[in-house]
Amino acid sequence: MKRFDLVVIGAGPGGYVAAIRAAQLGMRVAVAERDKPGGVCVNWGCIPSKAILTSAGLYEDMRNAEAYGIRCQGLSADYGAVIRRSRKVADRMSRGVTYLFKKNGIELFPAGATILSPTTVRAGEEELSAKNILVASGTSVRGLPGIEPDGRVILTSDDALALETLPRSVIVLGGGAVGVEFAYIYRAFGAEVTVVEMEDQLLPRTDREVAKELEKALGKQGIRVLTSAPAKGFDKVTRTLTVSSGGKEETLTAEKLLVAVGRKVLSAGLGLEACGVEIERGFVKVDDRLRTSCPTIWAIGDVIGGMMLAHKASAEGVVAAEAIAGKEVRRPDPDRIPACVYCRPEVATIGLSEEEAKRRGIECKVSKFPFTALGKAVASGHTEGFVKMIAEANYGEVIGCHILGAGAPDMIAEISLARSLEATFHEIGRTVHAHPTLPEAIREAALMLGGEAIDL
Ligand code: FAD
Repeated sequence: MKRFDLVVIGAGPGGYVAAIRAAQLGMRVAVAERDKPGGVCVNWGCIPSKAILTSAGLYEDMRNAEAYGIRCQGLSADYGAVIRRSRKVADRMSRGVTYLFKKNGIELFPAGATILSPTTVRAGEEELSAKNILVASGTSVRGLPGIEPDGRVILTSDDALALETLPRSVIVLGGGAVGVEFAYIYRAFGAEVTVVEMEDQLLPRTDREVAKELEKALGKQGIRVLTSAPAKGFDKVTRTLTVSSGGKEETLTAEKLLVAVGRKVLSAGLGLEACGVEIERGFVKVDDRLRTSCPTIWAIGDVIGGMMLAHKASAEGVVAAEAIAGKEVRRPDPDRIPACVYCRPEVATIGLSEEEAKRRGIECKVSKFPFTALGKAVASGHTEGFVKMIAEANYGEVIGCHILGAGAPDMIAEISLARSLEATFHEIGRTVHAHPTLPEAIREAALMLGGEAIDL
């Protein structure tokens, strides 16, 4: 039997990062992965979707080029080529993960794994002895009862990322990040799109003002958005979705129904329960150091729930590897993890929403700086949206920031750092930002909190 200090199950952004960090710390590491290295993120999530979004954005820019003094003639999109490019990008990134394993001396077992005991893992035909086991098995796509994906009419995000023909019309069921990104993609390439969300706003739990502005912006693009509209059922023959909306039943018909209502957690069948690992509603339960109720088994990423994001999985991967190595570390604070949506206008948020700050009884100050007042935004023609900043009233610590607009996901990094350093709005306001740049809007929002905004 091959012996390892750590066997990782799953090579997504949680598992592969944990494996590399553990190898850096001197552990002998194996990874079992039954699909392609890189997990959902690299193969069926973040990376291919962002490749398609880039094509969609480029197409939109070229359609609008005349406003910038550029004439484009005979413009057309080849949606099949867009999808094929995204698959190539994903494959390239997946090969990159395999390379990193080799570089770090990590042994990859390309097979499904099960846990036989707290210190033994079966990966395909091999039995591996492990001082510690890290579960990073993530999630897979799922449907709803009575609305089961078939890959033909009812699609999952996996299907949509591989589908080379653009549907004429699409109903997107679920107005979370994945649903909104696909809605933008399909509309940008010319499909008729309706988004159906059962909660009362898109991107539930995101700052309400941001979500409502996004809804308006998508509406201007021609996307119909129905909120507070739970789905009642789908007739596959007529391709009709029944939803209840505003106290009435409404029927919507489209060529495809994309189901983006959340994910199925992959904790069953791994052998966890037999080792005494507690599982709650499918999610593996862990403590502050990411250890499960079995002392040699640890878990990270989507399989433990919380924010289902690649960078959260990776941050936990680093913490888990260091905790296994005996370091005094704690899992990342969700209030310091940014969340982004890459449609147009883009969305990036971190920390508390205005509603959540009120719910927690925190006395706070709120500012909102619009991109219409920013030179770089006007010069680049991206004036939609704003930076909203929330600071605790006494010391001025920035406890939340919510950005709607071009470049938001890149801009939020500044606030991630500010949150790490517990920076105040005074400190951000006094930080010299390059001009003209979009992050100047962050500085202005910070200055506004102290009544010192210059450009508004
Ligand atoms: P996963 O990435 O799910 O990886 C788990 C791996 O474990 C998989 O490769 C699986 O094959 C393997 N596995 C499972 N069971 C076994 C077993 N028994 N044996 C061996 N291997 C096993 N997040 C962002 O932060 N930004 C984004 O822009 C973003 N976009 C997304 C777009 C889409 C369409 C989707 C679906 C998701 C997106 N996400 C995004 C979410 C992100 O992909 C996940 O949060 C992230 O992949 C979770 O990482 P993980 O390591 O926990 O699990």
